[in-house]
Amino acid sequence: MSKPLRGVTAAQTHSAILDLIRSGGVVSRVELADLSGLTEASISRIVRQMLTDGLVAEIGTGDRTGGKRRTLLQLNAGSRHAAGVALDFARVTYVVTDLGGTVVARADGEGIGMAAPGDVVPRLAAELDDLVSSAGVDRASLMGVGVAAAGRQDSAHRVLRSNPNASDWELFDIEDALSSATGLPVVVENDSTCAAIGEYWVGRIPASADFATVYLATGFGLGLVTGGDVYRGASSNVGEIGHLVLDIDGPPCWCGSRGCLEVLAAPRRIVALAIERGLAGELGLHGEEGTVREDSDRVARAAAAGHAEALPVIEESARHLARALVSVTNLLDLGRIILAGPGFAAAGEIYLRQAREDLQRLSFVRAVHPTTVSLSASSDVSAALGAATLVLHSRLTPHQTSSRLALAR
Ligand SMILES: [Zn+2]
Repeated sequence: MSKPLRGVTAAQTHSAILDLIRSGGVVSRVELADLSGLTEASISRIVRQMLTDGLVAEIGTGDRTGGKRRTLLQLNAGSRHAAGVALDFARVTYVVTDLGGTVVARADGEGIGMAAPGDVVPRLAAELDDLVSSAGVDRASLMGVGVAAAGRQDSAHRVLRSNPNASDWELFDIEDALSSATGLPVVVENDSTCAAIGEYWVGRIPASADFATVYLATGFGLGLVTGGDVYRGASSNVGEIGHLVLDIDGPPCWCGSRGCLEVLAAPRRIVALAIERGLAGELGLHGEEGTVREDSDRVARAAAAGHAEALPVIEESARHLARALVSVTNLLDLGRIILAGPGFAAAGEIYLRQAREDLQRLSFVRAVHPTTVSLSASSDVSAALGAATLVLHSRLTPHQTSSRLALAR
């Protein structure tokens, strides 16, 4: 039996029980009592309220222990929905998910590019509205919009401090602007953190598990979930794994340091290395600033197909990431790492293999416990999906430390 959920408010107890139903998938009231340490009478009262609110559904009976037949419960997936928007230079991805985090509708729109936020926000609202309508989702069931954005944020989470591609976004309050345009609560978080909370919600990871998600798009980011909530650090800028120094005398990085993971292993380096090795013509690489992701994907696809010269390029990137993950694991004592994001879509297996090998061989805690590494099942939409589940998590299972309750306004 776990520690009883004492000393918390009724709302927090409800939240914790709902989270146990989420992570359990299908559970009985008796199991919930065992897992939470609460009495069966308390569980019955809480579940009754959730049935009234439509958050959970009874799905028949099961007999798992040989005792009396027990009514089984699960999330009532269709009762609530959330929207997620991943803002990216080249593409904006929209998803609508149900309460279980299943994507019920998806669309891609033009990227934010160099457009001013004042021009982008009305388009986001219109495209989101189209998606919700075409999916046949009842607007009243929509709990809010999550936005996944790259770049640094200020400590109030409300501003994109530095979208490197468009300085107009620097002091723009997208939460307020998009909330006004959609009439829905909006929450903004960086893409790595969104990816992490998406894995947590959809992957049914229990609140007791501490884990990290490495997100790779143009650069690397790390999202951390501890104790069932996002870990944000002092200013919501936790997880800058891209600027972990792997070679103090290495090539200079734009951050001011040298030999950062980003300059040694990110898509820009992958493309430069492939061009240096004469692969531009054969793989159709453009080698321009605006085509880094597309070019890098071409190298990754060739590597995944076993191309003799492209494979070592990706393997070099993977070796650097794997060593960075050993350091991160040593620092945080992680039990689980998930690789997510479009950068892993084509050649994720190569990164996975290297990370597993290095962690098994070099992790400081390897004799105590393994650190499992896996690939996200939703790499190309993981930020948008995560942004949507962040809304669900913030509204329904916020746990004790979540600072995202502004959503409830
Ligand atoms: Zn750096």
